[in-house]
Amino acid sequence: MKIVIAGSGAMGLRFGLLLKLGGNDVTLVDGWDKNIAAVRQDGVKAEIDGQIINTKIPIYNTNEVSNQVEKADLVIVFTKSMGLEAMLKNISSVISKNTYILCLLNGLGHEDVLKKYVAEDHIVMGVTMNAASMPHPGETKFDGNGQTELQCLNASGQEEVQKIVDVFNKAKIATVYSENVLYSIWRKACVNGVVNSVCALLEGTTVDFGKAKNADHITRTIVDEFADVAEREGIYLDRKEVVAHVESTWTMDHYPSMYQDLVVNHRLTEIDYINGAVYRKGLKYSVPTPYCACITNLIHAKEDMLNVK
Ligand code: NAD
Repeated sequence: MKIVIAGSGAMGLRFGLLLKLGGNDVTLVDGWDKNIAAVRQDGVKAEIDGQIINTKIPIYNTNEVSNQVEKADLVIVFTKSMGLEAMLKNISSVISKNTYILCLLNGLGHEDVLKKYVAEDHIVMGVTMNAASMPHPGETKFDGNGQTELQCLNASGQEEVQKIVDVFNKAKIATVYSENVLYSIWRKACVNGVVNSVCALLEGTTVDFGKAKNADHITRTIVDEFADVAEREGIYLDRKEVVAHVESTWTMDHYPSMYQDLVVNHRLTEIDYINGAVYRKGLKYSVPTPYCACITNLIHAKEDMLNVK
């Protein structure tokens, strides 16, 4: 399968490398010069099952794509949420009416951006429990392994998307065809909307947050706001199960990725696509979301205070 990875950071390199090793024709696209130079010089580097792997994979800057990259069977987007629209605009030359676009970004509402580029039966939404970080440009570190769920936005595309599921499994990316991927996306957004945002604000680990006396109250209140808004979109979250799922992360002694982005690396966060998305949707449906509104504003204030780019 001819696959373009649109956004070749931690996750894009992880998925791109495994799909290449699985026998696919993979092309990487990114906008970060140092990363592109490192991949061109040394290949994509990772440790897999205790072995250091270096694999050459073609990589292009977005401004080189229209001349040098052929149309893709599958585009996998792996920018951060705020880079998605610009990425798709810049690589539109590789997208035809036959191209499938797969989105595994965290956050809510990305399908509305994808609809501008392909028909609903070519949009594949997903959630992955795999995790990765980037110790150096050109290098991806596999931080955690888990299942990936994919589903075509329109049921008529299921048979073709099942072929993508098969390609992923062949590449050792454990994947299933989901019965309700939008539910899974909202459920994961609840974890990000509680643990990521609050730990970035409080500058603590998930264990630190879980020890706070009012952690359960904060969690329930935020999950309720997500669930109230999701219901207006026809997604009925099992609130008790989702709260238990969020609270199960309190045993993981780590600083979540939004803390890493904001506090450690002084990078913009995906807050507008998590709590911010719930706040905006809440305004649209007249559903009050005071916690999400406040958290979104506080994260933006912290971005300004830290002068992040
Ligand atoms: P990352 O910052 O490591 O990688 C993003 C890459 O996209 C960067 O290399 C950046 O240069 C490139 N990029 C972004 N916008 C671009 C644009 N418009 N044009 C060209 N290049 C652009 O991020 P990541 O950790 O790989 O995460 C990607 C997405 O996957 C996010 O939505 C994240 O929430 C989600 N996610 C991450 C993990 C994880 O463990 N890292 C796990 C699950 C989901």
